[in-house]
Amino acid sequence: ATDKLTFDELMRHWAEEKPDTVALEQDGNALTFSELELRSRKIVAMLGAHGVAKGDRIAWLGKNARHYFELFYSAARLGAVMVPIGWRLAAPEIAYILGDTGAKVLFIDNGFDELAAKACGQMESAPEVVDTPSALAEIEAAAPADFDPAGPDDAILQLYTSGTTGNPKGAVLTNANLFSLRVPAEEAAQPWSSWDDDEAILVCMPCAHIGGTGLGIMAMAAGIRAIVQAEFTPDGVLDGFEQGITRLFIVPAALQMVIQHPRAKDTDMSGVKYVMYGAAPIPLDLLREAVQTIPDAGFLQCYGMTETTGTIAMLPPEDHSLEGNQRMKSAGKAVPGAELKVVGEDGEELPRGEVGELICKSPSNMAGYWNLPEATSSSLIDGWMHTGDAAYMDEDGYVFIQDRIKDMIISGGENVYPAQVESAIYGHPAVAEVAVVGVPDDTWGEAVKACVVPKLGSEVDPADIIAFTRERLAGFKVPKTVDVIEVMPRNASGKILRRELRAPYWEGRDRAVN
Ligand code: ATP
Ligand code: MG
Repeated sequence: ATDKLTFDELMRHWAEEKPDTVALEQDGNALTFSELELRSRKIVAMLGAHGVAKGDRIAWLGKNARHYFELFYSAARLGAVMVPIGWRLAAPEIAYILGDTGAKVLFIDNGFDELAAKACGQMESAPEVVDTPSALAEIEAAAPADFDPAGPDDAILQLYTSGTTGNPKGAVLTNANLFSLRVPAEEAAQPWSSWDDDEAILVCMPCAHIGGTGLGIMAMAAGIRAIVQAEFTPDGVLDGFEQGITRLFIVPAALQMVIQHPRAKDTDMSGVKYVMYGAAPIPLDLLREAVQTIPDAGFLQCYGMTETTGTIAMLPPEDHSLEGNQRMKSAGKAVPGAELKVVGEDGEELPRGEVGELICKSPSNMAGYWNLPEATSSSLIDGWMHTGDAAYMDEDGYVFIQDRIKDMIISGGENVYPAQVESAIYGHPAVAEVAVVGVPDDTWGEAVKACVVPKLGSEVDPADIIAFTRERLAGFKVPKTVDVIEVMPRNASGKILRRELRAPYWEGRDRAVN
């Protein structure tokens, strides 16, 4: 462990302590910590040649790549702010982010020139577009820069929220935000916060999100090898298991694809030490299946948000036992260094067991939203980040996330949390995917609707789903109607876009929370 809180310090530290340990690797191309340290100072010089200085924004358009992490780490040493843009976004969305951030340079990977040109073509003043592979090929012979390194409170990363409940917002994160929880003090150390030297962490979630870029940050904090995969595929993860991955972070929808892959039962997973999962609610049956499929791994549920630089609550491995375990439904307890509270509408702390809004005080809380002063002041109050998630906390501080406050359904005065209804419906053998939303109802205000994607080769009978749910949940939570749909609308983080499913039913009407 170290007490270093900036990229500059960490890179110099690991280059000295572990010069020959691989820091970054993609498709077998590896860079050690000492090579990375030297190259990054050359990259700082290259950034300077493009007019990039401390406080400027640069953007990345591409899939996950070793080059992306090199650029990000180098810019971070200097104090330029990296804005990774989701490569699945359309040109106008990319143009919006570039304009909003005022990025000076857009770094693109192979294959993204057309999309970049299209996005920049729609802008009044577009950034300079730089082809990253050739720019980085040219630095070999260049001289490393002398520069004044960024400090702990300098912004270095601007990540956009997933846009699950509305427009994505740019969360501005500093060096200290990134590292204050990730380099834990010895006294706060958990078994999973210490690392063996030969460990490797897999970066397979998109780098435009904290679940992707955050893993690179974790590897840098711990001084271990990060293996970068361009994008998530179940095969890639299974290959990674066979190639010595010891830890990974994965969202529930992706975890499901991995463990249910035909190859999974023949894959040696015994080297996996920790499976971190989260970013969205996980159905209990899926979690149990995962624990059984990867029996040697410790499972860590991660709860957090972009605005908190990722994980602020964690459910440790010992709470994943398969026998009569209520805690397995919890998202865990505050990680060392973070504080969690559940508050009512007036901001008062609620008694344990009562549902309210989860709020968090943590050195990992963002500096603020970019260009959104009102959103910042309404969500970051006296240092407490208001998560927008409804939750309760038990006597031991374990939080149980109910759902997004915006997605809560109020039917006949009763609160219905879609995640709970979805979890029950997932137990139905014909159901592949399900989302539950509130639709307008003249009698009840809102009525519960389930949107179901049937399993391949199965048929879903709405009456059967309703009867199935009635056996498992209170009457007011049972769907009044069921829509059978072909594809589930999801964003790039794999999160279900309930607002898209809900929208057609609310056309021309106002929903209390939206
Ligand atoms: P937007 O804020 O733009 O609507 P988003 O909230 O999905 O999008 P993220 O910051 O990627 O953007 O996600 C944070 C949210 O993800 C949390 O507020 C919570 O609702 C959900 N989440 C994260 N981890 C978990 C978890 N372990 N269990 C349940 N939900 C989770
Ligand atoms: Mg959010």
